[in-house]
Amino acid sequence: MTSSPIIIRSVDELRQSVSSALERAQEQAHQQATEEQPAAPVTLGYVATMGALHEGHATLIRRAREQNDVVVVSVFVNPLQFGPGEDYEKYPRTLESDVQVAQEAGADIVFAPDNDQMYPSGTPLITVSSGKLGNLFEGKTRPGHFDGALTVVNKFFNILKSGARHHVVNAYFGRKDAQQVSLIQRMVQDFNHDIVIKPVPIVRADDGLALSSRNQYLSAEDRERALVLSRTLAMLREQQITRGLTEDDISAARERIDAVEGVRLDYLDVIDSETFEPPAADSSKVLALVAAYVGQTRLIDNMELN
Ligand code: AMP
Repeated sequence: MTSSPIIIRSVDELRQSVSSALERAQEQAHQQATEEQPAAPVTLGYVATMGALHEGHATLIRRAREQNDVVVVSVFVNPLQFGPGEDYEKYPRTLESDVQVAQEAGADIVFAPDNDQMYPSGTPLITVSSGKLGNLFEGKTRPGHFDGALTVVNKFFNILKSGARHHVVNAYFGRKDAQQVSLIQRMVQDFNHDIVIKPVPIVRADDGLALSSRNQYLSAEDRERALVLSRTLAMLREQQITRGLTEDDISAARERIDAVEGVRLDYLDVIDSETFEPPAADSSKVLALVAAYVGQTRLIDNMELN
């Protein structure tokens, strides 16, 4: 583990740094190897972020640190995944403190490209289509969001893998963005990416609010109002565990959220987390998804119900 992370701005440099960091780590592993304990192949851990790093991101980075020899964190506010009228311009950009958080959590390399590095010919001609799943829930309210997110993740995967070559690459994604995790897992399958996806549980504040870079948009009053999201999800989980959920419970949950002043529900649905379809009676992975506007800020959350 390096003491302070290298900050890299260009794609070519990233490839080279990843390649040499892995080589160095492998050499070190060989030097420390004994006859009883031969050197294991070294691995790369990767965390993709849009910056404004908080404890949720730090948890992903720490997980990557624990499980890998070299850790890369990308910080890039990807214009492709923001729709017209969304918060692309005002999205917090705090690279200096992000590097600090990444360092404390154990990153070796912070990749912070600008738009020209990621999209040298402007809007890319060839993009990833997120298909049917990409048009549901988040994708319904934010058309094109997942195509944009998958397109940039696809590029990051290609860049990292070309630097890491035969080394295993583990990529860590938060379950806070449950639909994104599923779509990335599908992309890896459908595009034969040689990358292992490691989902990480949601990190919450003590009062239950899911941590998000967008929480900093909330006034103190809005932050209090936002608690209705996690509390309603917890109520649904309680109902599911104690007696099984009914349609009426789900409707009541929607009403409970909409009843809070300053909060406007976008969607609240209960799905099978493998298919994102309504759960079958015997579904073992039932997930409640919620999105709502709290003041002007759009927040999402989700909770496994069983
Ligand atoms: P973002 O910077 O919002 O694009 O998030 C980067 C990564 O951090 C994504 O994989 C998110 O799912 C993950 N993440 C963000 N907030 C949390 C959280 N509260 N708990 C777990 N993972 C999170």
